[in-house]
This record gives sequence, structure tokens and C-alpha cells, in this order.
Amino acid sequence: MAQILLQLQDSSYPCEVVHSKRARYLRIKLANNGELSVVVPNGVALNQVEDFVFSQADWVERKLKALSPVNNKPSELQLAYLEETWTIEYQADNHLNSLNVFNEGASTIKCIGAVDDSSLLHKALGQWLKQKAEQVIPRRLAALAELHGFHYNRVTIRGQKTRWGSCSSSKNINLNYKLLFLEPSLVDYVLIHELCHTLEMNHSAKFWNLVGDCDANYKWHDKALNKMARTLPF
Ligand SMILES: [Zn+2]
Repeated sequence: MAQILLQLQDSSYPCEVVHSKRARYLRIKLANNGELSVVVPNGVALNQVEDFVFSQADWVERKLKALSPVNNKPSELQLAYLEETWTIEYQADNHLNSLNVFNEGASTIKCIGAVDDSSLLHKALGQWLKQKAEQVIPRRLAALAELHGFHYNRVTIRGQKTRWGSCSSSKNINLNYKLLFLEPSLVDYVLIHELCHTLEMNHSAKFWNLVGDCDANYKWHDKALNKMARTLPF
């Protein structure tokens, strides 16, 4: 199935191309799980389809915002990487314009304060996730680097909006705390991908060969990762 990459304000978003014999005109759809597709009648050229999809960017952006769980309060965080599910309890205190997050027991997070301020909530939970990621992800990166013989300089955990990771020309690696939401095999793929960038700062054939040497299933993992990006809690 073909895919069109739609450029949005701060990310690119994949749109599946679905051919339909019964369709009479081009139609774009955004499913509740975030899957974007365009239905294409017979005889419409790909560049026409692209023009149509690109013309719908504002609509997609608006719809995505409405779908985004950032507007709601998540009731739990499923950290597939650690096989942990954390229930979130909220205690609103409208006198506070800050938000505190702390652990209560082994599987509950308590949020106290301005819990209806979605940007504060997002920040506070992000901070909590960052600390959690810092305990496990850099260690895994070091182990994979050792195993495959890569060298990097520094590793930093961040909350980038659209990237799982990046690697600078000075071999500093940035990784997203949202990796915690992924299965271990996908996290390993991201780490290997960034480690390979310490040798090849591009996505050339040489780069992908290197990735393939370290992860035989890299194509599948790369695809699965693109899908996951659409279903993250934030
Ligand atoms: Zn890359």
C-alpha cells in the first residue's frame, strides 16, 4: 500500500493511499486511532492525490488536535518497555497553579494541584517519565554500543514531540522518554538506529546496511515505529 507523507506544522504524518473501485471522488479520513487515509477512485494520478492530501493539511491538523488525549487526563500510563502499567489518580486543588506528581505504591501515580491545566499536566507527567527513562534507557544504549562496537559521546533523555531519537555530528545522542511506551524490540531498534548514525550521518544505503547488520528485522521495526507514533498517550 502506498503512503503519502503529509507535512504538518511540526511533524510529518503518514497517509495511507487506499484505492477503491466504488469511490467516485477523493476523500480523506482520520480514524479515531489516528490512522489517516485517502480513498482514491480509479484513474486518479498519484500527483493529483498528493495535491489533494496536501490541501487538507489544516483540516488534518485541526482534527488531530481534537483527537489528542492531551486534552483529556490519561487514566493510566502503559509502559510496555518495562511491562508496567501505572494508574493515575487526580486530586484537583484549584488554589494551586502548580502540579505535583508522585508515586503512591508500586503502580499508582498521584497528581495533585492544577490537574485541569493540560500543559502543566503534560509537563509534570513528562518529567516523571523522563526520570524513569533515565534509569533504564542509557544503560541499554551503553550495552548495545558495547555489543556492536559503537562509540558515542553523551546521551540525553528528552521529550521531543516528533522524534524518537537523534544523533549529532559530535556523537551526542538524544532519546525520547516516550520510548518507554514501546516494546523492547522497538526501543532496541531506535537505539541501534541512532548508534549507526555515529558512523553514518545520513540515511544512505550504507547506513541501512549497517542497521541491518545489527537488527535483522529493522524494516519491520521501522514500519511498526511509524504506526506507534500515532497511538501514544502524548
Ligand atoms: Zn535516522
